[in-house]
Amino acid sequence: MGKATGFLEYERKNAAVEEPLKRIRHFNEFRTPLPLEEQQKQGARCMECGVPFCQNGAMLAGMASGCPLHNLVPETNDLVYSGNWKQAYERLSKTHSFPEFTSRVCPALCEAACTCNLNGKPVSTKENERAIIEHAYEMGWVQPQTPKIRTGKKVAVIGSGPSGLAAAQQLNRRGHSVTVFERHDRIGGLLRYGIPNMKLDKKILDRRIELMKAEGVEFKTGVDVGKDITAEELKKQFDRVILACGASNPRDINVPGRESGNIYFAVEYLSSVTKSLLDSGFADGKAISAKGKHVLVIGGGDTGNDCVGTAVRQGAKSVTQLEMMPKPSVERLPSNPWPEWPKVLKTDYGQEEAIAVFGQDPRIYKTTVKEFQKDKNGNVKKAVIVSLEPKKDEKSGRMMMVPVEGSEKVIDAQLVLIAAGFLGSQKYVTDAFKTDLNPRTNVLTKPDEYETSVPGVFTAGDMHRGQSLVVWAIREGREAAREVDKSLMGYTNL
Ligand SMILES: Cc1cc2nc3c(=O)[nH]c(=O)nc-3n(C[C@H](O)[C@H](O)[C@H](O)COP(=O)(O)OP(=O)(O)OC[C@H]3O[C@@H](n4cnc5c(N)ncnc54)[C@H](O)[C@@H]3O)c2cc1C
Ligand code: SF4
Repeated sequence: MGKATGFLEYERKNAAVEEPLKRIRHFNEFRTPLPLEEQQKQGARCMECGVPFCQNGAMLAGMASGCPLHNLVPETNDLVYSGNWKQAYERLSKTHSFPEFTSRVCPALCEAACTCNLNGKPVSTKENERAIIEHAYEMGWVQPQTPKIRTGKKVAVIGSGPSGLAAAQQLNRRGHSVTVFERHDRIGGLLRYGIPNMKLDKKILDRRIELMKAEGVEFKTGVDVGKDITAEELKKQFDRVILACGASNPRDINVPGRESGNIYFAVEYLSSVTKSLLDSGFADGKAISAKGKHVLVIGGGDTGNDCVGTAVRQGAKSVTQLEMMPKPSVERLPSNPWPEWPKVLKTDYGQEEAIAVFGQDPRIYKTTVKEFQKDKNGNVKKAVIVSLEPKKDEKSGRMMMVPVEGSEKVIDAQLVLIAAGFLGSQKYVTDAFKTDLNPRTNVLTKPDEYETSVPGVFTAGDMHRGQSLVVWAIREGREAAREVDKSLMGYTNL
């Protein structure tokens, strides 16, 4: 039992965050964690509930409530409080492959479901997690875990995002020989070329990849499976294959003028910026640039926010972000009670920065684009935007957002970034392996299982569950590894 009165004695304290107007001058992470002694007090705030919703990870009203990895949250919080950092690291490692990623980018489903969040501020479990793993690295406790015995079985993992990496780590530690194939020049999936450096410094990713290499995982970059190597060849060379290729089919905005220049998908834009940063510190000039441009971001979600933060850093003249749905309420509605995920207004780092620079929130709700207009060089110059209103579709009975006649406005837009979500897996990979798909073009398996319709071929992550979160990708990778291990050995201890 932790400190029984901790939540009464200590206020929640968070890492110090650099001011928006200062942090936009660089692409580095901008949070300074609390000193360890202060973090211990944050651990003391945990009430060690008898029914800890924080570690549940169950679906409530269609959204996850609590940690999908079932991290042993009250136990690790208590170990933080008592300063048993090594034990905290060992306990966290039981359920988690990469706490250094989630403790930077996770929306902290654990905290949303924390009992303290019912009528106060939740325990800072995400920052406790960061303190545990970063202290463990500093103390040299995070060492390669090389298997003592190899099983002689070979597994190919296609895709090096968090799901592929988690599966590879688990299977390699079990003694199987794992090769990860990645079509990009660097390992990491969207951790590398999606999530910007200021949210997840790429050195953090490199540190883990070096460990995995030392553990014996083989990485092959620049290999596009289904193009550079066939599915048949892979199936011949390996005992099992895991498809962890993500959901990289972006949803397009098919309106007149879409063919204009300077209209990009969000990940195309964000990855060009990170690649240029990593290759040359931007000296190569290869990043798609927002400098001096009126930027229009289509999509009000997290990816859109990353585009806003990046465009602001590049020196955009203005940034507008369109969201189709109505503005969420500031407080939880009675129809969305704790411990459900709170559907409330969130102002993320990029939006905060845009507010600091331009004096107003970049988001315009219930609005979409109707048309793009181009200049004489064929590049986008303006966008016609239109307001939307909810209306019931007579056939399906579903609520749709439909344009309001006469509400059109023309705005300047010299760089357009489409962050309107993803539609599922890419056809050439699933065609190559001939896997069955669900109607959303995610790879089909039986519920809560990972083997595809093709024997010996498994799947995990966004490619399986659709566009999601890093924490879910890690869970899927670990569970797929378990199934693969069982299918190879007849039992599993993963
Ligand atoms: C811009 C952006 C920001 C995000 N921010 C967050 C965040 O802050 N927090 C959060 O929790 N989630 C975030 N997400 C979601 C999160 O990144 C994904 O849910 C997660 O990365 C999915 O992991 P994955 O391993 O399934 O796939 P991915 O990370 O997409 O990795 C798939 C990999 O497979 C490779 N690949 C595909 N096809 C082939 C092939 N044929 N051959 C070889 N390699 C192939 C791809 O190149 C890619 O590297 C964000 C997503 C985006 C787009
Ligand atoms: S992985 Fe995410 S949800 Fe799970 S404990 Fe960490 S911050 Fe919370």
